[in-house]
Amino acid sequence: MRLSQFHLNTTKETPADAEIVSHQLMLRAGLIRRLGAGLYTWTPLGLRVLRNVETVVREEMDRAGALEVLMPSIQPKELWQETGRWEKFGGQLLKIKDRKQADYVYGPTHEEVITDFARQELRSYKQLPLNFYQIQTKFRDEIRPRFGVMRAREFLMKDAYSFHLTPDCLARTYQAMYDAYSRVFTRLGLRFRAVNADTGAIGGSASHEFHVLADSGEDAIAFSDGSDYAANIEMAEALPLYPARAPAAEPMTEVATPTQTTCETVAELLGLPLERTVKTVALMSEHGFTLALVRGDHAVNEIKLAKLPGLADYRLANEDEIAEYLGAQPGFLGPVGTRKPLHVITDRTVALMADFVVGANRDGFHLRGVNWGRDLPEPALVADIRNVVEGDPSPDGKGTLSIARGIEVGHVFQLGQKYADAMKATVLDANGKAQVMFMGCYGIGVSRIVAAAIEQNFDANGIRWPAAMAPWQVAVCVINPKDDAAVNAYAERLYAALSAKGLSVCLDDRGLRPGAMFGDIELIGIPHRVVVSDRGLQAGTLEYRQRSADASENLTESELLARLG
Ligand code: ATP
Ligand code: MG
Ligand code: MG
Ligand code: MG
Repeated sequence: MRLSQFHLNTTKETPADAEIVSHQLMLRAGLIRRLGAGLYTWTPLGLRVLRNVETVVREEMDRAGALEVLMPSIQPKELWQETGRWEKFGGQLLKIKDRKQADYVYGPTHEEVITDFARQELRSYKQLPLNFYQIQTKFRDEIRPRFGVMRAREFLMKDAYSFHLTPDCLARTYQAMYDAYSRVFTRLGLRFRAVNADTGAIGGSASHEFHVLADSGEDAIAFSDGSDYAANIEMAEALPLYPARAPAAEPMTEVATPTQTTCETVAELLGLPLERTVKTVALMSEHGFTLALVRGDHAVNEIKLAKLPGLADYRLANEDEIAEYLGAQPGFLGPVGTRKPLHVITDRTVALMADFVVGANRDGFHLRGVNWGRDLPEPALVADIRNVVEGDPSPDGKGTLSIARGIEVGHVFQLGQKYADAMKATVLDANGKAQVMFMGCYGIGVSRIVAAAIEQNFDANGIRWPAAMAPWQVAVCVINPKDDAAVNAYAERLYAALSAKGLSVCLDDRGLRPGAMFGDIELIGIPHRVVVSDRGLQAGTLEYRQRSADASENLTESELLARLG
């Protein structure tokens, strides 16, 4: 690519509204441009990087035997009603109407669509197992879109869905996808870790997340040096509305919860200022959950608030939704009344609990003035999780914990029969009997990876792309191309020679001053830079510099070609 015919648009100034380094550098290097909240255009430069990520993902999916499909991003309401997620998914689901007033969603994920596809396509167990994937735009109406493409509303995801006759077969494909994910992130040159997505589960989890380790990560992950225990501890900052509260001074009392109520009633009930309450309730309605906290002898049940004025979408939700909201496995709270350790509930839930009314043991009643430690079980465990530090013993008793922050770039999940059951996706088994299929789902945040990679690979001069992601491998920088025909001709020939070796090369023939030209090439993160100048040609050398190196070296052309192998 000749940069004189390309569109590079870089800036020196750090954009004021970009908080983290990847967002700043993506704007400064001109990889993305903002259209609206959580909506970005990928520029020609940015798209080259995004496509490189896609290529690696696609190659590894193909290698793992997954079959590429492309599903519509607009999905009919009826499918979402079949699984109950039209109601349950919450505020992230963008609902739209067509001209006939028929309802649709802009797909935040595709379990419904693929299950519908599978129940039509698949008849016999002999067709199984099958794994379908796509690389496609998703929309989630994130409550706080931020950090550029890191948490966008419209973003690019690779999502795969596998179908099986038996759980064992599902487990094998799950492992194959786990391995494929590890290869993807290794090839992309990222430092990453796979962790249990359910902080409570130790080993054998049916869900793992892949995290790129970076200080700006929104999740905290803990991992042991003595075992393969690794878990996501989502941090309380993720929901800053809920700071931990000082213990209540008042005695615990039972209060009746009106089924029809107003914000004022709720405020009074909670003993909180109205403004705070409205926010809290609004957030709850956004996600549409109630909270169930399970303890040994009985359930401290849900927060029940009925329709509030101005909160049209408010409704009650069940435990699976809470799990989904928290990013845990469905059913992680367990059936009400069974004992599960409190620490499976993340600290932000606990903070929410502490700040809110907890359920009593009677329908239509809640408790007020609840104290941790006095009225609710195992506060120490909560404190432990919140205060876990480097060197604490691992929960499985093997080794000690390290803590790091992570960016979730991938997620693999054994769904079991949840969707296939709801949508009656069956195949005939060897005995000719209809069997509900087992499913797995596997996501990769393709666009998020671009930002995550920058969080790990930058310096004061800009981005330092891992080789597999760089928009070009080599930049040939020409000093005075317009005035110096010999230099220009040499650079053109070198550009052709490097390209012929299969390298992706850009020729910086824009005629910028060396400082500005080198500044751009460093900012946009090209791994190898070669300078063609009159002085060099006189000496028979080219100035070569690796993006990560401290200094440049003078090489002959054959030395250079050997170096770039
Ligand atoms: P998060 O916890 O960051 O909200 P998630 O658990 O909701 O992500 P999944 O449903 O597991 O996301 O989707 C698969 C992948 O899609 C995630 O691992 C992540 O890399 C990516 N992803 C999810 N939400 C976004 C977003 N708003 N912007 C960019 N990428 C996203
Ligand atoms: Mg998550
Ligand atoms: Mg999410
Ligand atoms: Mg996830």
